[in-house]
Amino acid sequence: MAQNNVKEIDELIKIVSKLPGLGPKSAKRIVLKLINNRDDLIKPLTNTLAQVYKNVIRCKNCGNLKSTNSNCVCTINKYDQICVVENIADMWVIQSSGIYKGHYHILGGTLPSFENKNKENGLLIESLINRVKKNSVKEVILATSASIEGETTSHYISDSLKDIKVKITRLAKGVPVGGEIEFLDDGTLYSAFKNRSTVVND
Ligand SMILES: [Zn+2]
Repeated sequence: MAQNNVKEIDELIKIVSKLPGLGPKSAKRIVLKLINNRDDLIKPLTNTLAQVYKNVIRCKNCGNLKSTNSNCVCTINKYDQICVVENIADMWVIQSSGIYKGHYHILGGTLPSFENKNKENGLLIESLINRVKKNSVKEVILATSASIEGETTSHYISDSLKDIKVKITRLAKGVPVGGEIEFLDDGTLYSAFKNRSTVVND
């Protein structure tokens, strides 16, 4: 840790180094940059962080981030396709690849690999079923990772939707086993989407 003898700076370095991809060294560089730009960086950053802390919440309906000052995108438009992902990072990767332009449903994780039908682990599965019914959704694309947990979750969801008239598809096996969507390159993601297959319930 830095030896600044300034408690506030040490504390800030400690917090910044907890951010993904940053170690103590880059945290120090960032903190130094901030301190040297008090008005241009620290001030707007402080205000923005306070606003985000106060106003940005997770939508209980679709799992996406929303502002408390406006309606979530899931309630504004009509849609007939939903892409189900584990987390927001996965959604951002798919969005920036431009492969899919429809709506998303963010589960908030995966089910444990052993199946426990009574426990949804706080995942937004019930609200997914409601969205599918309410919007007369025609296709649910399961874009969970190719890990055992991802497969378990995907299977559980298609099972939960089996009584509803909706096409359920799963990303093609181009996704490497254990592969997390977040770390796939655009090419792999593109072929996984393009070659997605219909899930058949047994
Ligand atoms: Zn929403």
